Amino acid sequence: MSELDIRSMTQEELGQVMESLGEKPFKARQLYQWIHQKAAGSYEEMTNLSKGLREQLKERYPYRNLQAVQVQTSKLDGTQKYLFRLFDGNVVESVLMRYHHGNSVCISSQVGCRMGCRFCASTLDGWTRNLLPSEMLSQIYEIGKITGERVSNVVVMGTGEPLDNYDNLLRFIRILTDEKGQNLSQRNITVSTCGLVPQIRQLARERLQITLALSLHAPNQEKREALMPIARRYELGEVMEACRFYFQETGRRMTFEYSLVGGENDSQRDAQELAELLSGFPCHVNLIPVNPIKERNYVQSDKKVILNFKKKLENYGINVTIRREMGRDIDGACGQLRKRYMDET
Ligand code: SAH
Repeated sequence: MSELDIRSMTQEELGQVMESLGEKPFKARQLYQWIHQKAAGSYEEMTNLSKGLREQLKERYPYRNLQAVQVQTSKLDGTQKYLFRLFDGNVVESVLMRYHHGNSVCISSQVGCRMGCRFCASTLDGWTRNLLPSEMLSQIYEIGKITGERVSNVVVMGTGEPLDNYDNLLRFIRILTDEKGQNLSQRNITVSTCGLVPQIRQLARERLQITLALSLHAPNQEKREALMPIARRYELGEVMEACRFYFQETGRRMTFEYSLVGGENDSQRDAQELAELLSGFPCHVNLIPVNPIKERNYVQSDKKVILNFKKKLENYGINVTIRREMGRDIDGACGQLRKRYMDET
């Protein structure tokens, strides 16, 4: 499964494919353009490649497409949820959000997840497999083609832990930002992690200009452990140290995600402890009112509690936003569309 398909290859690697087929190297450039710039749906579309070459490619390198099996559109704000079927029958979820500054797509990085965060629907049925770079790219390409609109921002915040699929994630970013492909700016990509310390440090050393978002969700070790099993493996102090290292290496201000869970992590005391934890750290805090899932008893905090939590952080000079709920009418929490589909079929 770890073998890379043709749509996950760099132009250099496609050059080797062409060579092995006895073709001129410049054909690799054309092939790469078809795959990544024009987001071709099949070899048949690649009309400047000879029929014979297309036949050979088709035989040796299956061209795997995602197939949209469900699309839900919000009547409130145009947000769309997509369910894509992969070549092996697995399904993944992606979301298109329309903002005034452009279209943002939230993609999945794995089929399922093994991190076990208590409030998250994506992890309830465990982990099945990593997504290939091409499968992450295709979520974006397909949505672009279906809507006919340009995707300008990408957030890796769907199902899965992206840093648990590190090599494929990096390859995905390199291809997505390649000027010979979609040419997205690194600054328009956000990767969200539950806090895998060695991989955060490794990512820091890549010196990319992407935004790293850390799922914090608690102001101290004890509360974090209660919500996130991964916190037992990587202790909070260690995680914060890795985040500081990320900022040092990249100069990129980090985002901390904090899902507010009624009565668990939303008190004024929690806010104060959080402010102290983040004191002096150039960052942005994104408060996410928890999206309750039926498998757990977690509830949203009252509106007033949320606003007071925000105010408390602001009093300490911290930059805070409350995540706007998009597509409330189609939503359900992350991973719920997929879960419902899987349970039904
Ligand atoms: N594995 C990555 C990406 C996961 S999803 C990570 O942990 O960051 C993106 C964000 O949504 C994470 O902060 C995650 O903790 C949060 N999240 C997941 N389910 C949620 C829910 N039901 N309510 C609120 N936030 C949730």
